[in-house]
Amino acid sequence: YTCDLIRNFSIIAHIDHGKSTLADRLLELTGTIKKKEVGKNEQVLDKLKVERERGITVKAQTASMIHTVDGRQHILNLIDTPGHVDFAWEVSRSMAACQGALLLVDASQGVQAQTISVFHIARERGLKIIPVLNKIDLPAAQPELLAAQMESTFGIDPAEIISISAKTGKGVDAVLKAIVERIPPPSGKTTGPLKAFLFDSLYDRYRGVISLIAIQDGVLKKGDRIASCHTRKKYEVTDIGIMHPEEIPVNGLYPGQVGFIACNMKESSEAHIGDTLHRPGTTVEPMPGFKPAKAMVYAGIFPVDTSDFPKLEESIKRLALTDRSVTIQRESSTALGQGCRLGFLGTLHMDVFRQRLEDEYDANIIITAPTVPYKIVYKDREVYVSNPTEFPDASEMASKVIEVQEPVVKASIIVPEDYFGDMMDLCYTHRAEELEHRYLDAGTGTSARIMLNCVVPLSEIVTDFFDQLKSRSSGFASFDYEEGGYKASDLAKMVFLLNGKPVDALALIVHRSHEDDIGRAWVKKLVKVIPRQMYEVPIQAAVGKKIIARETLSAYRADVTAGLYGGHVERKMKVLERQKEGKARMKRMGTVDLPQEAFFEIMKK
Ligand code: GDP
Ligand code: MG
Repeated sequence: YTCDLIRNFSIIAHIDHGKSTLADRLLELTGTIKKKEVGKNEQVLDKLKVERERGITVKAQTASMIHTVDGRQHILNLIDTPGHVDFAWEVSRSMAACQGALLLVDASQGVQAQTISVFHIARERGLKIIPVLNKIDLPAAQPELLAAQMESTFGIDPAEIISISAKTGKGVDAVLKAIVERIPPPSGKTTGPLKAFLFDSLYDRYRGVISLIAIQDGVLKKGDRIASCHTRKKYEVTDIGIMHPEEIPVNGLYPGQVGFIACNMKESSEAHIGDTLHRPGTTVEPMPGFKPAKAMVYAGIFPVDTSDFPKLEESIKRLALTDRSVTIQRESSTALGQGCRLGFLGTLHMDVFRQRLEDEYDANIIITAPTVPYKIVYKDREVYVSNPTEFPDASEMASKVIEVQEPVVKASIIVPEDYFGDMMDLCYTHRAEELEHRYLDAGTGTSARIMLNCVVPLSEIVTDFFDQLKSRSSGFASFDYEEGGYKASDLAKMVFLLNGKPVDALALIVHRSHEDDIGRAWVKKLVKVIPRQMYEVPIQAAVGKKIIARETLSAYRADVTAGLYGGHVERKMKVLERQKEGKARMKRMGTVDLPQEAFFEIMKK
């Protein structure tokens, strides 16, 4: 065994540029998995159903390959990374165990916003970067133009670029060769104290917590005792192996190797991401860890049927074991009953979690409008509020609160020149500031592209920003952001009154410049979905004592479903059926009875 036969690398790219496809080709070429028919992309590393359906990678996965060069067996450890801004934390985490990265760029699309951000993460970590142009089989591919673009954007020598088609497999052998030749082997000593880096964890129903580790120094074997630098707890290694990509047990893991261990950790919080493991009784310098993932988007999740809460909570907790970046708190609402308030890295992350809850746990849930964490500054303290019901009301705002701050992000948008005006407009309507732009491929002529940078409130991005960015640029704009701290902002709590009574589950935090629009849009929506009552019901949006908008729900008519679901026959049938069964689950909001279905309609975008 020697370290210099190991290569640890990841593939980094903008979403859809072909990471998973290239990973599959590499696994096939090394004989790790059987070759599939061309065009049938199964994407071995994308294990979750939601990943296959949406074609995105959510969790970083690891696979070890054995590749023989000149009769010497090399171990190539591939750590797959997610490709969406929400999962930037997962990206930097998976790169921590690597010495090199394949920077993949779609030859028909060119450098996109996410390409730039992952490139910078890789460079900061000191990784050897191998530039790869993918999809050269496409007629729209422009390899020469893009080589120039990569040179001007990243300072990459065009001679180092490898052109491939991950789909057909063309050029992939050159990638394999470059991995062995260009990426440095991990450094580490077999002798000396054990030092292992914990970079990910999974949860297994039978064995408990499984940790993914990269060995820095020393050798780790089954039965060895280990200790955590972070928690100082001690464990015995009960199971050890590599991901090939399925688990394969091994006798021991050596310096530079990436693998998994099970060691009787009961709580997944014991596997601290970024921790350093060592032998009890020895002291080692812990390796630099990670900033913990920070929840940026919060939403309440409630069971449709209130009696399902224990089951829902259990499912959420179990799912969170496989996704350590989700935070969980209990929450109760007069309208929706007992539920959980969850914190996510972004809206896609939230959406993926919701879908996994429904897919894997068969949960029937209501999810409230997403909220970002606001900072309320009082004379003597600061409080973070991520639930509209906890936001100070008008009188408290006037008497006690010095200012309210909201999280902002530094956004970058890359867009063809033709759509520049639309993008500027999009930014302005979403309260963007500090707008700057520059041409990305100066002098290349044909399709000049612009990079637009600005500071935008996170709450603006959480709603419809991404969808609008895509539709207003015909899909050509790409977008990325990083944290930008907090900024003072003119915000207020908007409440909705049904028959004069506020409904807690419907409260929102809004920027004062948007309050009229939002208030009007919401009451319009409410009047459509709330069933008529025996009497006339005023529906109002209010900020403090000020009524922003009002609609009136006229009194009950004979047909209970009339005007309710805008002609959804199936829905109507369902409502009628439920009523017949005498099972209509009504929520009493203020003095108004509301079926659960109406709540669904309200929470839908
Ligand atoms: P990821 O998001 O980076 O993991 O991208 P995927 O590997 O899921 O690929 C995104 C899409 O591009 C899929 O539909 C692939 O089939 C397609 N794709 C990947 N590589 C190539 C290629 O070399 N040529 C062509 N024509 N399509 C490709
Ligand atoms: Mg993928």
